[in-house]
Amino acid sequence: FADRDGWIWLDGEMVPWREAKVHVLTHTLHYGLGVFEGVRAYKTEKGPAIFKLEEHTKRLFESAHIMGMKIPYDAATLNQAQIDVVKNNGLDSAYLRPLCFYGSEGMGIRADCLATHVMIAAWEWGAYLGEDNLKNGIRIRVSSYTRHQVNSLMCKAKATGNYINSMLALQEAVNDGYDEALILDASGYVMEGSGENFFLIKDGVIYTPDLTSVLNGITRKTIFTFTKELGIPIVEKRITRDEVYIADEAFFTGTAAEVTPIREVDNRTIGSGTRGPITEKLQTMYFDQVHGRRADHPEWLTYV
Ligand code: PMP
Repeated sequence: FADRDGWIWLDGEMVPWREAKVHVLTHTLHYGLGVFEGVRAYKTEKGPAIFKLEEHTKRLFESAHIMGMKIPYDAATLNQAQIDVVKNNGLDSAYLRPLCFYGSEGMGIRADCLATHVMIAAWEWGAYLGEDNLKNGIRIRVSSYTRHQVNSLMCKAKATGNYINSMLALQEAVNDGYDEALILDASGYVMEGSGENFFLIKDGVIYTPDLTSVLNGITRKTIFTFTKELGIPIVEKRITRDEVYIADEAFFTGTAAEVTPIREVDNRTIGSGTRGPITEKLQTMYFDQVHGRRADHPEWLTYV
């Protein structure tokens, strides 16, 4: 991935892709404290547009604040840098990855001389869980790994170290032949996927876990707006594993995963065993929105 042409924004400058390097003593590499974002730009009739750019940057600053990390740039600078990264790499559509990390100024968890570095990369990235799965849905399993307890890792932060749990869960799911994991909390309530928020639909009502122990997903928020527009009731509540088994429909949301239907959980068919009608409606709205085909919410798109 490192050996390619292109430009990466690093500490205020556009650096050739191959030269955007760090030292092996980079603090974040050792202790896993960094904060990041996953953002997408979509092809529209008016050129590439970044979806909910300001919201993503705001969450990045909130993540840094939670972690006690000082970002040496303001939001306007990082927004512009993200626009520039898409532009300079000549991308029609892109996945953008801003990351704030501690450098190699010091070692040990007591190091008090660390500087926060910021990098932003962008590349073309298709359907995260596969084009076919967007239509037909994925097969998932409940993870044997428990999601973070609210006072161990800070779930409102999109922090690098939080993803160790995600990777363990995803590895297990993929090794067992599933597409994704569904992770429960220590009490056994449904939380989220390894990188997605979870929704289920039962008798015309949409349910999703409250935000106690899950990432406050930006796609999740978009779904809330859409359901209000459609007049579909949506309820945040604690969800049990067996409620998922008997759902009419289920889906994951995420910037990478977009709106991905779930057709099977723990080898039990969900609803009709394919993308459900409400899921399809929300997915269509989502793709129309991000591609600039809806008149509503023009403020969600930042044209490059
Ligand atoms: N939960 C986790 C653990 C994630 O990594 C992501 C992806 N950022 C999400 C949920 C979905 O968040 P968003 O819609 O903001 O991408």
